[in-house]
Amino acid sequence: MAALVQTTETKGFQNWLRGALAVLFAKQGLQSFVIDELTQFQRDVLTSIFKNKNLPIGTTCTNCTTENVLYCPTQNFCTKGQKCNMHDPSVADKTPQPCSNNICHDVKDAIRHEHRYKGPSWKNTNAKGWCTDVIEIAKCYMPPDGYTNVTTITDTDFNGILAVILNNKRFKCKMTAPLNKPDNVCTEAREVSRVIRHSADLNISDTDLTKYTDILIRLLSDPAYLAADQNAKTAVDKLNQLKTNTLTVITADIITVLDKTLKDITEKQRDNVVQEVSEERRKAKEDIEERRQRQRKTLKKRRYSQLNSSWAMLKLR
Ligand SMILES: [Zn+2]
Ligand SMILES: [Zn+2]
Repeated sequence: MAALVQTTETKGFQNWLRGALAVLFAKQGLQSFVIDELTQFQRDVLTSIFKNKNLPIGTTCTNCTTENVLYCPTQNFCTKGQKCNMHDPSVADKTPQPCSNNICHDVKDAIRHEHRYKGPSWKNTNAKGWCTDVIEIAKCYMPPDGYTNVTTITDTDFNGILAVILNNKRFKCKMTAPLNKPDNVCTEAREVSRVIRHSADLNISDTDLTKYTDILIRLLSDPAYLAADQNAKTAVDKLNQLKTNTLTVITADIITVLDKTLKDITEKQRDNVVQEVSEERRKAKEDIEERRQRQRKTLKKRRYSQLNSSWAMLKLR
């Protein structure tokens, strides 16, 4: 365990770190909410296809590529105004064609139908997973860039998770927030994460930190569903403790946010702050190593005493 105070130098940076942790906890609080609803969506879509197409219940297709299922040209997929780079009539996997299992085109229509702006991010997804891997459906509702390699909801960032809630119309029944309006608690939370991510000097004022944390708490306490959701409640508890500085933050969480920041920063070549974050990460890692050493020692001791007592029992017999 590492107390925030011990591992950080300045107040502004401590606040920034708390803000970044708040975003991480908020994301963790929403993961299962998002994936559960999309799993139900996938189930409903398939059930209705089985019924309409008279297919045996449980039929799946894992053969069709995204290029097979999308006609040319498709918005958010095909190259605009020139020869399409995505489709290629000389390659079977890159040519639009009917689904041999009679499913995939209907799944595609359902994904598009449920998209608030009718513009799924087709480039993110792999249609081969639509029947069996819900994350491939989720990715259709995430921002168009940077989510292709996501394979689980856990490696999705907060922005990706919020995009699913904002873009998939099913969430309107699960939130009291007006998701169809430009201003709602999800767009506010998206802005919070953007500001923290792009904070050039990794500094946040006390006032801003409170404001940001309160927005995230309001999101995770949405009365329609989340207020009673266990994971969202756990996240709210952590956010409240962050606010009052009573949370014992585990080092792994600090490393997660610092790693993500390092990645963002490296991408943007902001060399001047790289060193500061690297230093924090080094300290956090040392802390973990120390803890591991302690655990190893305890474990050895326990094994030793167990061996001794087994030996004693053996002798008694
Ligand atoms: Zn095309
Ligand atoms: Zn198919």
